[in-house]
Amino acid sequence: MANGSQYDILIVGAGAAGLMATTFAGRGAGQTANVAAVDGAKHIGAKILVAGGGRCNVTHEVVTPQDFAGSKRNQIAKVLKTFGADDTVEFFAGLGVKLKREDTGKLFPTTDRAKTVLDALLSAVDRANATVLNEHRVTKVSRSGDGFTVRTEQGDLQASKLILATGGKSLPKTGSDGLAYGFAISLGHTLTKTTPALVPLVLPDGHWLTRLSGLTTDVELAVASSTGKILHRQSGSLLMTHFGLSGPAAMDISRHWIAANLADPGSHLLINFLPGKSFDQIESELVALTESHGGAGITSVLYDYVLRRLAHTLVAEGAGVEPTTAMAQLSKPQRRAVVKALTALPVPVVRDRGYLFAEVTAGGVPLSEIDLSTMESRKCPGLYLCGEILDVDGRIGGYNFQWAWASGRLAGLSAAIG
Ligand SMILES: Cc1cc2nc3c(=O)[nH]c(=O)nc-3n(C[C@H](O)[C@H](O)[C@H](O)COP(=O)(O)OP(=O)(O)OC[C@H]3O[C@@H](n4cnc5c(N)ncnc54)[C@H](O)[C@@H]3O)c2cc1C
Repeated sequence: MANGSQYDILIVGAGAAGLMATTFAGRGAGQTANVAAVDGAKHIGAKILVAGGGRCNVTHEVVTPQDFAGSKRNQIAKVLKTFGADDTVEFFAGLGVKLKREDTGKLFPTTDRAKTVLDALLSAVDRANATVLNEHRVTKVSRSGDGFTVRTEQGDLQASKLILATGGKSLPKTGSDGLAYGFAISLGHTLTKTTPALVPLVLPDGHWLTRLSGLTTDVELAVASSTGKILHRQSGSLLMTHFGLSGPAAMDISRHWIAANLADPGSHLLINFLPGKSFDQIESELVALTESHGGAGITSVLYDYVLRRLAHTLVAEGAGVEPTTAMAQLSKPQRRAVVKALTALPVPVVRDRGYLFAEVTAGGVPLSEIDLSTMESRKCPGLYLCGEILDVDGRIGGYNFQWAWASGRLAGLSAAIG
């Protein structure tokens, strides 16, 4: 039972997963229990507020384990099925937050304001008879008897049960700086290698694609091994920037490019500017067009395939062919160079933009160390983990929050009734 610094359930981290865990721990534990979340941040919920460009993409209409990477998909599925996208919609409706579906399938609050989501979560915590203590940065967590001692900058707190919801390392100024991985390790866990994910990719200074800054186009990206084996494909919108590649397609594939390069530094990224079309298909189309329109310039022919600004640059820089060359004058190697630039352009990514620009962290505590029916640690009884600290990362579209809601709810509820 509680006194000032003694808690039945203490949640470390009051982000998306932590607020959800706190709400469900409070609801499940009943009026007499002492449930609180501690967070180092002065203002709670910074990451929720910046999410989805300030609109907060709360979830996606269809969420499947295939939308995630990291731990095994069947492990991720076990948690997702306890609280799906429909449950998220119903949960937020119960808090007075209506969600709307956009054409992409992403769900946002009808207010288009992330603050609506954060305010609702904070009032849910309040109504669940739980509290959030801000400016309580935790520096150490240790076992004491059957419970835990949590060292904060404001003094030590005791807890019978502990939930770690401290996030990863992305956007560290919001408070998730990775220190808390050490808490999980000190309580017996391991960590799969952490890297930025959902992060823009950097090209060499002055690379010709950076001169197309501002251009957005649908592409298929592929990560190929040094032997040319395709390891991962990703379709979506690509944004050229002054430093390299951004937009959903580049962000989604970034974790796969990073993982491939750690294992095999010869791995590389290929862009297909004609998603769904192969080298052979486009080559035969250009051969046919040479017969019917031999006098047409190659660049103007490509206007039917890609944006004009892109056509010119792809021919000149991507294929190394004079852009005004008539179709009939193209040598076979030149024609094939154009087709390659269109369908499998190798791009020399030099690095990712790092945690300052990453939306999430890949890697973390592996799900194999968690009882997935409760989110309780298999290494340390009484400890629960949820959210991004775990080795699960979703693609762009509301999947990361869905993981936070589902795993946070399960951890909170289980800690309350376990
Ligand atoms: C710019 C941006 C936009 C995004 N947009 C979306 C989106 O629209 N949809 C989507 O699904 N996902 C989005 N994401 C990803 C999503 O925000 C995260 O996956 C999600 O917030 C993870 O929730 P979490 O609670 O696990 O971690 P966090 O939200 O990172 O919360 C962890 C909390 O723990 C606290 N903490 C950490 N260490 C300590 C410590 N030592 N002591 C005390 N407190 C500590 C932190 O202050 C923080 O409040 C976005 C991310 C970014 C960076």
